[in-house]
Amino acid sequence: MEKKRVYTFGNGQAEGKADMRNLLGGKGANLAEMNLIGVPVPPGFTITTEVCNEYFEKGKEAVVALLKEDVEKSVAGIESLMKSKFGDVENPLLVSVRSGARASMPGMMDTILNLGLNDEVVEGLARKTGNPRFAWDSYRRFVQMYGDVVLGMKPTNKDDIDPFEAIIEDVKKAKGVRLDNELDVDDLKELVVRFKAAVKAQTGSDFPNNAYEQLWGAICAVFDSWMNERAILYRKMEGIPVEWGTAVNVQAMVFGNMGDTSATGVCFSRDAGTGEDLFNGEYLINAQGEDVVAGIRTPQQITKTGSQRWAALQGISEADRLANYPSMEEAMPEIYKELDALQTKLENHYHDMQDMEFTVQEGKLWFLQTRNGKRTGAAMVRIAMEMLEQGMIDEKTAIMRCEPNKLDELLHPVFDKEALRSAKVLTRGLPASPGAACGQIVFFAEDAAKWRADGRRVVLVRIETSPEDLAGMTVAEGILTARGGMTSHAAVVARGMGKCCVSGAGAINVDYKARTVEIDGVLLKEGDFLSLNGSTGEVYQGEVVTKAAELSGDFAKLMSLCDKYTRLKVRTNADTPHDAQVARNFGAVGIGLCRTEHMFFDNQKIIAMREMILATDEEGRKKALNKLLPYQKADFKGIFKAMDGCPVNVRLLDPPLHEFVPHDLKGQEEMAQAMGVTVEYIRQRVESLCEHNPMLGHRGCRLGNTYPEITAMQTRAILGAAIELKKEGYDPHPEIMVPLTGILYEFEAQEKVIRATAAELFKEEGIEIPFKVGTMIEIPRAALTANRIASRAEYFSFGTNDLTQMTFGYSRDDIASFLPVYLEKKILKVDPFQVLDQNGVGQLIEMAVEKGRSVRPELKCGICGEHGGEPSSVKFCHKVGLNYVSCSPFRVPIARLAAAQAAIEE
Ligand code: ADP
Ligand code: MG
Ligand code: MG
Repeated sequence: MEKKRVYTFGNGQAEGKADMRNLLGGKGANLAEMNLIGVPVPPGFTITTEVCNEYFEKGKEAVVALLKEDVEKSVAGIESLMKSKFGDVENPLLVSVRSGARASMPGMMDTILNLGLNDEVVEGLARKTGNPRFAWDSYRRFVQMYGDVVLGMKPTNKDDIDPFEAIIEDVKKAKGVRLDNELDVDDLKELVVRFKAAVKAQTGSDFPNNAYEQLWGAICAVFDSWMNERAILYRKMEGIPVEWGTAVNVQAMVFGNMGDTSATGVCFSRDAGTGEDLFNGEYLINAQGEDVVAGIRTPQQITKTGSQRWAALQGISEADRLANYPSMEEAMPEIYKELDALQTKLENHYHDMQDMEFTVQEGKLWFLQTRNGKRTGAAMVRIAMEMLEQGMIDEKTAIMRCEPNKLDELLHPVFDKEALRSAKVLTRGLPASPGAACGQIVFFAEDAAKWRADGRRVVLVRIETSPEDLAGMTVAEGILTARGGMTSHAAVVARGMGKCCVSGAGAINVDYKARTVEIDGVLLKEGDFLSLNGSTGEVYQGEVVTKAAELSGDFAKLMSLCDKYTRLKVRTNADTPHDAQVARNFGAVGIGLCRTEHMFFDNQKIIAMREMILATDEEGRKKALNKLLPYQKADFKGIFKAMDGCPVNVRLLDPPLHEFVPHDLKGQEEMAQAMGVTVEYIRQRVESLCEHNPMLGHRGCRLGNTYPEITAMQTRAILGAAIELKKEGYDPHPEIMVPLTGILYEFEAQEKVIRATAAELFKEEGIEIPFKVGTMIEIPRAALTANRIASRAEYFSFGTNDLTQMTFGYSRDDIASFLPVYLEKKILKVDPFQVLDQNGVGQLIEMAVEKGRSVRPELKCGICGEHGGEPSSVKFCHKVGLNYVSCSPFRVPIARLAAAQAAIEE
């Protein structure tokens, strides 16, 4: 059978449905589904995403030929439902041509409205509707969109202005008006004439008159837009494969610009910023399509509650609000009721928060789009937990609804309440995307990227944002705009990124040329500090102090729900009592990796440490180690205390020694004095410690095996701290881990030192503490001989940073020189140091677990590399039967959620 390329929908019927989003794109699949469940949708058809791939393989002509018959038949279908005719002068059918990929890409690709108009048809439309203003407004919009999108007249350089916008500004200025809707029919006619002249001048051809010629041009332009720069950048950021393609939706137009009983709007079934179960949205009377999102006119609120909240933020009185900015609920109560009922219906149908677009044409409501709404991390959690409470979804669905990486946003600092009280509020905008942001002002996306690369935190301040600003928005701490509502580009994109955003702060005056922003009489320059509160819309001068977030409310509920399903435990990597405490508050049940080397870096300790390293004999080393012992013991005591009752896995000294010694003259002089030797002696010792390849050099258990006195000292410190705590009534669970084992005998030799030291200490103290001795598995040879190593080691901890380094043979310190090229050329899909390489490194892990447990069935296995907090890697760890993952404190909740999801997916 011939492949089906076109799927029709309309009048309560559809050839597609919601679960066909891969083929029809999200928009097309949901347009079909809305038809099927009785939501009013203008009729139309969807050209599949597969055709998009054909388009790029076979080219324009071939694909148009393939589609011709189906498209013409489908247009005829719309004509009969709409009782009008495409291209007809007396009774014209107009259509929109819309893109729609599998994953939603808001504003990334181009849409054309009012297609089918020309100089004759516009007159017919004016006669038929008795509304010439509407007809000409639609026509000038069409010529503009078609010129920009299909004829390629939209400037590619952001600093150039759109030729059509320039003409509009010109006409408005001549007329002395400010808003588009203040232009009359004659002005609009003039616009069309000048637009067409601009098209002719720039492209050398006349604007196409024939409706089908227009349609094919638009369909191809939508396919082409799949490859435009911003779509490519967006796909890269979101990890969307190019093969997915976009569908094309062709749909009968409905008009929100037919006068005061017409409108267009965007709405959400719940609050996409906070997750509150409150219907909300914005609309504009007598407007079309993107007007609401584009921030050209300030839209009004749909609900009365929303409108009152908005007015309060803007400092607008209730009387003023009712007179000038009434909500749809107040201004169009009948339509509002219908809209409210339909949004409820859609949310109940999809069991998720919906983001919807609608248009009212002369008192009749039409839906143009619905999708599961993008939301902040906070909203994601709240919506999942409330839908669970409301019985709309079950526990497993609630857990699966939450995206582990998005929890990160809930862990970011918030403004300190005290600091807020004394902060100077410059102005208020709309709380478009919650969070606290503080940084230096920049006005251009390129600058944001540059400044960020220099290590500065920036706040992007703009009149409004557009998809071209994406790269700058990504790196900014927060975004502040003068124009645009809660559904403006800035707001929607920021929420998707979980980035703080205050939009529509009308009181700010941005001057791009001077690179200044004036707010309520205060003039701020590029580089000045500004703080934004995306939860309240407040804008503060200077830097406002922030404090750490905490696990509470719905977030805490979600986490305990996760525990109900999880098998994998989550520990943390922590080297200080503070980090241990933070991780514990986030639900870590132990420390999976406590690195001891960081403990040597403060003032007194580093001198003793250097003395130990620079000593030439055991005698000298022991003397220095004795100085270090009390420091180490105190450090361990603090950590064990913070993790009381939970296992703490301490790794013996691991890094190459040269990392500790002074490489500068001043430091060398200091050491010479401290040790009573010459600077020359120190210099020579430092030089002799230099290695060509330190990562593969004298480190890990090679240190402990060449200098067993280090291992002995550390064992004394670890177990000594545990003994003291035990005596004080605490419950420490120390584990001692040998790093970088490759050979069983390396481990055995270290274990012998550890056990002997322990026995000695226990005898001295007259008390015994149970403890375990295990090893890192981070050298491929250790994984290959895991059964031998497990005959002695009581547990394994996979050090996947080193294991990745040594399995690939990539130095992780030097990977930056070729990784970008590898990613670009798709030799690597992802950075293997961030996302565990399941095919290679993962095999070693799986095999080592199996081999290890073949000789020691109760062998506890965990992972402690960076991968321990990366969701896909966590899921892999679950699959191969590890007991726990260990990650940095702020990733603990992310790992807990990923672990629960892994168990549910199983
Ligand atoms: P995006 O994916 O960028 O949201 P859309 O295809 O949804 O682009 O269209 C842009 C705007 O045009 C939306 O506001 C939408 O509601 C409006 N629109 C699209 N098709 C029609 C139509 N047939 N009638 C009226 N408005 C339309
Ligand atoms: Mg849309
Ligand atoms: Mg290591």
